[in-house]
Amino acid sequence: MQRSCVTSITFCLLLPDGMQSRYHSGMFATELLHQSYCGRFAPSPTGPLHFGSLVAAVGSYADARAHGGTWLLRLEDVDAPRTVPGAADAILRTLERLGFAWDGEVVFQSRRTSLYRAAFERLRLEGRVFACACTRREIADSTLGPDGARRYPGTCRAGLAPGRDARAWRLMVEPGEICFDDALQGRICQDVAAEVGDFVVLRAGGLFAYQLAVVVDDAEQGVTHVVRGADLIESTPRQICLQRQLGIPRPAYLHLPAVVNALGEKLSKQTRARPIDDARPQAVLAAALAFLGQQPPAELAGTDLASLWLWSIEHWDRGRLPHCRTAPAPAEY
Ligand SMILES: [Zn+2]
Repeated sequence: MQRSCVTSITFCLLLPDGMQSRYHSGMFATELLHQSYCGRFAPSPTGPLHFGSLVAAVGSYADARAHGGTWLLRLEDVDAPRTVPGAADAILRTLERLGFAWDGEVVFQSRRTSLYRAAFERLRLEGRVFACACTRREIADSTLGPDGARRYPGTCRAGLAPGRDARAWRLMVEPGEICFDDALQGRICQDVAAEVGDFVVLRAGGLFAYQLAVVVDDAEQGVTHVVRGADLIESTPRQICLQRQLGIPRPAYLHLPAVVNALGEKLSKQTRARPIDDARPQAVLAAALAFLGQQPPAELAGTDLASLWLWSIEHWDRGRLPHCRTAPAPAEY
């Protein structure tokens, strides 16, 4: 099966210069989006695939296939300095060995800068972003936001002080709560203006921020359902802010429990999460399914990978997913 969301859901295909007019034309009712299912998995190539990212891959894949949907693969290497050479290839190889079959070509954010530039220029022309000259030290006294970053106090909102140069560009966040209904975590609300403040969309050094890239990519690729780890749930209201200001539709969200280690830290390169052992694909896939509350029969562990996937998709049950933001990694995987 080689179909991509952009061909099967053409009303989601965004061209950079036509983005706004198409979505503001009223042709694309939000309900239309949910008649088809287009999911994705979007790892950052900062290291090999670990159990936490595997859980997000399994959850998004099984949920997409169980709904008869397409599933795209996107490498989030927009943060070039954090990208590790060879990591993207290693991730793709591991996914292949584990039996994942994605639709269409793999997309690399690093090759899509013109899309982010077009979205940024639209925001800039509409006066929705402003230049910020603040250094990290200058906002160090501000209060902490939900993800531990400092809340931006709005210093440069009304223009740069004389003699100051722009370091980054920030989105002018409108006041008020932003709420969404997560398919697993329930209703989530955040006052982005009060808790995070105007956030960066174009970073010092000219790199586009993760939040902007994700929103533009999901819209451009026609993604209708975002299934990912709950470690990203605090980012979602910021992404909704951007969707609103860019006039693009909001996908449905389901945030799976994030995998934590014995110390309660999210599995990541920084917490030295060990790479997936893809020489034992059935065992690691079964461990990820068990983490997600799915219970493949024991006899399937000894069978071939294709049968295990077939069972997983046929029996995928959102009702069995654990209702929590984090859960510990299993002892064995
Ligand atoms: Zn500033």
